[in-house]
Amino acid sequence: MSEPEHDPKTTNEANGDLDRAREILQQTYGYSDFRGLQEDIITATLQGQDALVLMPTGGGKSLCYQLPALVREGTGVIISPLIALMQDQVAALRDLGIKAAFLNSTQTPETQAEVIASLRNGTLQLLYVAPERLLQSRTVNLLREAQLSLIAIDEAHCVSQWGHDFRADYLQLDQLAELFPGVPRLALTATADPATREEIVTRLKLCQPQRFIAGFDRPNIHYRVASRSANPRSQLLQLLTRHRGESGIIYCMSRKRTEGMAAWLSEQGYPALPYHAGLSNAQREDHQARFLREDGLIMVATIAFGMGIDKPDVRFVAHIDLPRSLEAYYQETGRAGRDGQPAEAWMTYGLQDVVKQAQMIQQSQAPDDRKRIERGKLDALLAWCETTECRRRALLAYFGEDYPAPCGNCDTCLEPPQTWDATEAAQKLLSCIYRTGQRFGAGHVLDVLLGRDTERVQQLGHQHLSTFGIGRGLTAIQWRGVLRQLMVAGYVTADAERYGALVLSPDCRPLLRGELRLTLREDVQEQRSRKAQALASTAPADMDLHDEALWEALRELRRDLAQQNNLPPYVVFQDRTLKEMVALRPKSAEQLLQLTGVGQAKLDRYGEDFLTLLHRHER
Ligand code: ADP
Ligand code: ZN
Repeated sequence: MSEPEHDPKTTNEANGDLDRAREILQQTYGYSDFRGLQEDIITATLQGQDALVLMPTGGGKSLCYQLPALVREGTGVIISPLIALMQDQVAALRDLGIKAAFLNSTQTPETQAEVIASLRNGTLQLLYVAPERLLQSRTVNLLREAQLSLIAIDEAHCVSQWGHDFRADYLQLDQLAELFPGVPRLALTATADPATREEIVTRLKLCQPQRFIAGFDRPNIHYRVASRSANPRSQLLQLLTRHRGESGIIYCMSRKRTEGMAAWLSEQGYPALPYHAGLSNAQREDHQARFLREDGLIMVATIAFGMGIDKPDVRFVAHIDLPRSLEAYYQETGRAGRDGQPAEAWMTYGLQDVVKQAQMIQQSQAPDDRKRIERGKLDALLAWCETTECRRRALLAYFGEDYPAPCGNCDTCLEPPQTWDATEAAQKLLSCIYRTGQRFGAGHVLDVLLGRDTERVQQLGHQHLSTFGIGRGLTAIQWRGVLRQLMVAGYVTADAERYGALVLSPDCRPLLRGELRLTLREDVQEQRSRKAQALASTAPADMDLHDEALWEALRELRRDLAQQNNLPPYVVFQDRTLKEMVALRPKSAEQLLQLTGVGQAKLDRYGEDFLTLLHRHER
């Protein structure tokens, strides 16, 4: 362990502080114990040390600075780039009975004056502020006069000039070391490879920080990839029936598609809104706010949506078009299940995606080495889609993390994919591409293979080719699956310069000569074990009708209370708390206090309403 740098505390004092932190965790937050690295991080901060905290989304980073700030004397300052989120974060803290505030330019002068006064007189426990505001000299002067318990720098990877989220203001946060000597600083992030981690430490001038690195695994996320069926919309509906009344995000590629899909879903009885960069600011803000506040709304979005989505009860993230890379996939699916409850990451893809994405890269204006990198990322993503091993293990391996056993919570673990010897099929398909002159896309090649007598076949005289009709043993959908896998494996490429004409790569020679046998995975469109169903859904599978009625009634009460208090429903109580109410049926305030997420302030505020409802539903 490194030497505590400032404000060293004796072990006894530190132990006492940790006990106090645990007490607040239980009484104020209603949680029974620390999770993962929280205890170690809180201990270090209570001792006055700097820390670098890397934890996946939903790992519980906020408690790592909130608790020490509540235990230590003075106000904890939290620097966050996302002004839009501060309001909800602060509202949630206040609902717990914590004295929290934010400071930004959207506030009236009166409100700002109130916040400043509470900071000066030492009653403010947590202050949220954006970096640009913090760095103004009037804010700096104000904070230097106040007593600070700690400084937390959230989304610390924004300091990295090579990252996607770089913010110039973050670079100036290195001043904090000199401006506030003796105040422990924590830098927190969910995305940082080893190089970025060190960049954070250096650029923020953290002082001999302990590094707390949690794994990337998101155990509550159920991963599932299916090949696109002939009817993609009904395939999507199958997913949605498992998540009726729940919030989710559907990612797709084009703006137009988000709008069409959102309208169609709403018609089907699944309230949905589009979100993309082409909407006006006002519309985007409105849709985002509704997504946060309304229960069970679906956001159909392009990748423009996501940064700063801090909604804990997103129950599914669906990709109906391929994401750009595994990094993007991990980040996008990471928005599901932040509350630790079961959530589903679902994706469909097909031959068309493989062809289209490859073409987009080939045709882009980017320099060649950039294209090579993107091509490599696409290949890694596609290989992951086709994998027959545990998806979680493969995903974590991509990020350099070892995951030992099958996870039991992904499609390949729960329904091990069947494989088949596709050597002969591959030979037929490859020969057909060759015989038609490597000049046609998938449509025509498959027509010839299946012996379809189309106009084009007639015009070109392809009905006379030796490969005409040799593929009748498989269906068109099956052939598309074979072709897709041959492309992913690199045997066939689509030439963007020639309208996506299929071209053989030199690698297919041994295959054509029969020197190599090829095993492919059987395409699965949707086949789920009952265990998989249960793992992917929060509406507890073992609920009987009586439970279900109570569950719905609790959600309705939560919605009403949220509306009255102008809060998102999950701030009132999270899903987990409602589920425990269904399972344990508390009858008194004491019993209610035992539930996860019920502290004293919540009890005072909402206890009676929920107890009354529970009483009405007694069996
Ligand atoms: P992050 O900022 O790392 O994405 P959060 O701090 O928002 O994660 O926490 C994610 C969820 O986990 C929240 O719903 C939070 O209330 C819950 N949580 C965090 N720590 C604990 C704990 N010790 N016990 C129970 N729930 C916790
Ligand atoms: Zn698995």
